[in-house]
Amino acid sequence: MYDNDTENNLRRALTEAGRRLVQKNLVQGTWGNLSARLDEKFMLATPSGLDYTSLTPDDMVVVNIETLEYLGKLKPTSERKLHAAIYRDRPEINAVIHTHSEYCSVAAAARVEITAVDDDMRKLIGETARCAAYGLPGTKKMTKATVEALKDRNGCYLANHGAIAMGTSLDEAFAACETLENSTKRLIEAKL
Ligand code: 13P
Ligand code: ZN
Repeated sequence: MYDNDTENNLRRALTEAGRRLVQKNLVQGTWGNLSARLDEKFMLATPSGLDYTSLTPDDMVVVNIETLEYLGKLKPTSERKLHAAIYRDRPEINAVIHTHSEYCSVAAAARVEITAVDDDMRKLIGETARCAAYGLPGTKKMTKATVEALKDRNGCYLANHGAIAMGTSLDEAFAACETLENSTKRLIEAKL
């Protein structure tokens, strides 16, 4: 069972990471979402549809990874099913970030699989980044396709939607998102 300090630190870290996603242009408006594992049963997730720049640590929502029940008045991200499914499938993963970054969205629209362009990508994402088959956002179909595309990987594209990346810590998940976006940009530019 997680303690208060762990919860409060993660609340602050998620708030901060949300702001950095906006600063680094990895999300637009209220799109995208973040979560961090509290323990084997609970995750902390961003609320649905709220602006990152106005979020406070208190706005993060505690969600049960098994049942998806949540505490408090704010509704957790509409992608909570997906975040929870990843924590269930991958016990070593402690943070998940879904972005709508520019170049990943292009790759997601083209539904490509790219090969790692450098050691950073190989380390943080894996040998390739696949594209999960299309499913409407927030649905079981999309969740299943994404968990499959993430097999032996720490990131993938979501067909006609965006990208997702994860790590053993929030910092690692953030670095994975940045690496996926930068590698995709380099590859697209090289192909052009
Ligand atoms: P939420 O605001 O509900 O997290 O949804 C954003 C999003 O990107 C859905 O795919
Ligand atoms: Zn999205």
